[in-house]
Amino acid sequence: MSRTFSPDALLERLPSVRGRLEPMRELAPLTWLRVGGPAEVLFSPADIEDLAAFLSATPEDIPVLALGVGSNVIVRDGGIRGVVVRLGRGFNAITVAADQRVIAGAAALDARVALSAASAGVDGMAFLRGIPGTIGGALRMNAGAYGRYMADILVEAHALRRDGSSVVLSNAEMGFGYRHSAPRDLFYTGAVLQGSSGEPEAVLAQMEALMERRAQAQPVKDRTAGSTFRNPAGFSSTGKADDDMALKAWKLIDEAGCRGLARGGAVMNEKHPNFLTNAGGASAAELEALGEEVIARVRVHSGHELTWEIERIGEALAQRSEDT
Ligand SMILES: Cc1cc2nc3c(=O)[nH]c(=O)nc-3n(C[C@H](O)[C@H](O)[C@H](O)COP(=O)(O)OP(=O)(O)OC[C@H]3O[C@@H](n4cnc5c(N)ncnc54)[C@H](O)[C@@H]3O)c2cc1C
Repeated sequence: MSRTFSPDALLERLPSVRGRLEPMRELAPLTWLRVGGPAEVLFSPADIEDLAAFLSATPEDIPVLALGVGSNVIVRDGGIRGVVVRLGRGFNAITVAADQRVIAGAAALDARVALSAASAGVDGMAFLRGIPGTIGGALRMNAGAYGRYMADILVEAHALRRDGSSVVLSNAEMGFGYRHSAPRDLFYTGAVLQGSSGEPEAVLAQMEALMERRAQAQPVKDRTAGSTFRNPAGFSSTGKADDDMALKAWKLIDEAGCRGLARGGAVMNEKHPNFLTNAGGASAAELEALGEEVIARVRVHSGHELTWEIERIGEALAQRSEDT
């Protein structure tokens, strides 16, 4: 049975939109690791109404996946079947209200939210400054750093369901855990966040200190997707003195001799061994295979079972050509 991508046939089944529909759009340039095949169709909605109308009129059997700025994903080399939704300009507004509430669109970059909040004298969101994703990705992943997470600041998340209907979720309804939120198949459109009152200069200085600390410990300029595996301790760096006691993925990887381990252009970063890196010309298959090798080596060395924090999405190349 032939299951190769058929973007023209897919486009015929999709409703007309005000935004952009691009068949066979390469996704590699839209991700931090710069790997992977195309989206069968990439949809960039003009605004919430456009996305809602699209979702409600798109037949249920067509897979539709949301993507942020691709800072926590490996898109596999065969690409993604169906429609990938990428939110852009119509979803990136940030408003700071008088009660230290920040209302941010799902495409707003975490760093911009942190800076807007700080400039308006809102404290409590500095941790977002160094996370290179969007608010949509942060809701999905419960993004966090140095002991603070989305779970600590979220009042409510706004989303659309696959059928185009809208839903507002409270913090409790998000079911947040470490790098985890419970809802599936939602398209986040925005969030209301709660900070506290602060002095802009003090919050900006706090952010600078966090950024410096991050630059010292992490390869922030390399092609990575951040931490590859979850910390077995169940939390990220707290930045506190007792942090060294926590069971960290990077330590297990280092002790298993995997710092600098390479497969083609894929490397476990020398600076921070939990950062899987595209050092040049890596394929998604090489990155994923290197990650699996690290899991196996750590298992043999220490008995710990690492689990992926990076999401692997789409189809392997072999899978696609076998299907045709
Ligand atoms: C250098 C570097 C440092 C990092 N440091 C940190 C860190 O300190 N803390 C941390 O938590 N993470 C960190 N990350 C990982 C990453 O930035 C976060 O997980 C971020 O929240 C992902 O956001 P994104 O927009 O890139 O999402 P993507 O990677 O595009 O997608 C991630 C997941 O979110 C879903 N998603 C995205 N947008 C939406 C939406 N609108 N609606 C529904 N689902 C959506 C996707 O379907 C996917 O499942 C780092 C990454 C890098 C490259």
